[in-house]
Amino acid sequence: MKVYDVVIVGGGPAGLSAALYAGRATLSTLLIEKEQVGGQIIMTSRIENYPGCVEEESGATLIDRMKKQAANFGVETISDEITEVDFSREIKVLKGQNETYRAKAIIIASGATSKRLGCEGEEMFIGRGVSYCATCDASFFRGLDVFVVGGGDTAVEEALFLTKFARKVTIIHRRDQLRAAKSIQEKARKNPKISFIWNSAIESLSGDGILEKVVIKNLKTGEKTEYVASPEDMTFGVFIFVGYEPNADLFKNELDLDKGYIKTDELMQTSVDGVYAAGDVRVKSLRQVVTAVADGAVSAVQAEKYINSLE
Ligand code: NAP
Repeated sequence: MKVYDVVIVGGGPAGLSAALYAGRATLSTLLIEKEQVGGQIIMTSRIENYPGCVEEESGATLIDRMKKQAANFGVETISDEITEVDFSREIKVLKGQNETYRAKAIIIASGATSKRLGCEGEEMFIGRGVSYCATCDASFFRGLDVFVVGGGDTAVEEALFLTKFARKVTIIHRRDQLRAAKSIQEKARKNPKISFIWNSAIESLSGDGILEKVVIKNLKTGEKTEYVASPEDMTFGVFIFVGYEPNADLFKNELDLDKGYIKTDELMQTSVDGVYAAGDVRVKSLRQVVTAVADGAVSAVQAEKYINSLE
């Protein structure tokens, strides 16, 4: 049974950076990703705050180069979903749906996934009006009205992106102040296609097979307003950007977590020797590509030192 030096769980920027550093250190390295390699950043239409990205750069193009770079150093990539882990012995075991994997060191870079609103009709209309990815779905709403839920950087940036396609973009936020960075807020306030509905939440989404109606509730007054698609439009879009949840549930019996995120020290070491966590899945103050790739590099260098210490 093959024992890898390093198995990396998750193929976003943190995982790919760890893969690059591990591969370059000539460690036998396997990267396991359950969906498509790239993580959340692949949904980002334009990256402005990753050093060196001065020209138009999307998440997908950046990830594409990262993937090639890791593959050039002999990193194997496999698609599988890990369902069970055992970190109790020196050789760590990861059970996937297709296979079981063994490694001397593990780097967890499983990231985070979009949070759901939990309102009536949300699940039913995913892909039929409800979306969590503007880059993926904006073009379906060309010339139509679109609502964006959330007040953070993601919501406001994606609202700006959606103005290139939609007739009108309305941001629904549960408070009367945005959380997004001031520079992004200013762009949104200046954009004639963007308007705001403050102190409000979506109560329900409905329609006959496709999204046709949204009920919005003012959280201060309790007043409800309805928006119904016109017969010409037939539908509209609701894009939800209300934050992320860490993909760390799988590790809760093996590692110390804090509010669902994996606890590490500054060397990405978790509560188990030889197991590291990198990127959005770990407790940290700034979740960005630039910090994810830094975590990935640190974790791989530490994994190499750990493996050398075993010999
Ligand atoms: P976030 O900063 O956590 O913001 C989530 C937003 O959704 C907040 O406005 C929050 O409202 C709202 N919200 C949360 N739960 C809700 C619910 N159940 N119903 C309605 N609204 C809800 O998430 P994010 O915007 O996705 O950003 C995540 C991280 O990535 C942040 O650290 C952010 O700075 C970073 N990021 C950076 C950039 C950039 O620098 N260009 C771009 C994207 C993301 P409240 O404000 O009332 O809490």
